[in-house]
Order: sequence, then structure tokens, then C-alpha cells
Amino acid sequence: MSIKNNLQDLKQSLPEQVTLVAVSKTKPVVEIMEAYDAGQRIFGENKVQELVEKYEDMPKDIEWHMIGHVQTNKIKYMAPFIHMVHSIDRMKSLKELNKQALANERIISCLLQIKIAEEDSKFGMSLSEAQEILQSEAFFNMKNIVIKGVMGMATFTEDQEQIETEFKRLKSVFTELKPLISEHFQPEIISMGMSGDYALAIECGSTMIRVGSHIFGSR
Ligand SMILES: *Cc1c(COP(=O)(O)O)cnc(C)c1O
Repeated sequence: MSIKNNLQDLKQSLPEQVTLVAVSKTKPVVEIMEAYDAGQRIFGENKVQELVEKYEDMPKDIEWHMIGHVQTNKIKYMAPFIHMVHSIDRMKSLKELNKQALANERIISCLLQIKIAEEDSKFGMSLSEAQEILQSEAFFNMKNIVIKGVMGMATFTEDQEQIETEFKRLKSVFTELKPLISEHFQPEIISMGMSGDYALAIECGSTMIRVGSHIFGSR
């Protein structure tokens, strides 16, 4: 199967309300261009340096999404062009994103990464941390960001029931946060589901899936 076929088959199987982020990390520009030529315009990367290089080398109508752990000191490099940051896991990153968005005279969209997995290795905040941020004076004054929802990663396991429990947890966190809607919190997006579990994620309420190897092959 070619990248183009993989992409087209996947897109055809998706419900209308689900947005596909094609995760292109580690893949060379020629391969990503195959997906671009097949119509894909939303790509996800997990390292800032790779993201910046690909941004520079590729067409400018691509929406780049940052899906990997955010190091605060690197936010400035992606702030001029990044479309959405999925992985905001603490107040410090949110503050820096707002600062760099202001410096670039932009309003940048982001998601709060919620820890839904059992594994300690996964990043993310708790429901109460997210509630605290959304109700804080500091957040109220961040005029250059819009939080559009939540993102989560399930435990790396074969256990479908555990994955389902974790996805349902993210959906319920989203539902709990929703009433805190404000000018800078416009809850619309639940980013969950990867190559191995996107169908289950969609059943559990995902509106944005992040799929890499299923499109581009294994890394
Ligand atoms: C790599 C990655 C994905 C995509 O993983 P695949 O299994 O290749 O689909 C999704 N989300 C995040 C945060 C990733 O780092």
C-alpha cells in the first residue's frame, strides 16, 4: 500500500466530525509530500527542531500541530507559525506560549494535555489542575492564546478495556471542563487516538485523531 492509498482509505472511514492529524515525525519531506499531494494539510510533529525544518522546507498552507512534550525554552522557535499545540501540561508552558504568541502578534490555539494513563512516563495534568488554570486570574489575562480542548494518550497496552476506560476518562474531563467556557477557552476538541486505537477513540468521543504509522508505515 502507498501513503496515498493508506491516507485515502483512512479518511473515507472517518466520521465527518473527526479531524485527522497526520503524524509525520521522523519521516522525510518526500514522503510527507505524498500525503500533501493526496490532499492532507494537517501534520503533527513531536520535536521542535524537526518541526521548524519541515515548516521551512514545505508548502506554507500546511497546518502544523505540535503533539510532543513541550520544552518551554523552545516555544519561541515554533511560535511564528504553529497552528496548534496539543501538549500543554503546565501553567508555565501556557504562559510562555502566550508570551511568544504576543511577540509574534498571533493568537495560538492549544489543548490541555490530561494524564489519563496509568503509566508514570506519560505527561499531563489532572482535572483539578486544568480547572484551576481555566479559572485563574493569570489565564484570564492571556490574550494571545485560545484553549480549544483536551488531549490525552492511553497506556501502551494490548488491553482494550483499559484503553477504553482511559479514553472515557478524557471525555468526562472534557465534559467537566466545558462549563468553564470563556473568551479564551472554547472547548471543541478531544484529541485522542493513534494508529492502534483510533477507532476505539472515536467510539469514545474523539474529535481529533493523531495517526502516524498507519499512514506512513512503521518508524
Ligand atoms: C507518535 C505519536 C502519535 C502517532 O503514533 P502512531 O502510533 O504512529 O499513529 C500520536 N500522538 C503522539 C503524541 C505521538 O507522539
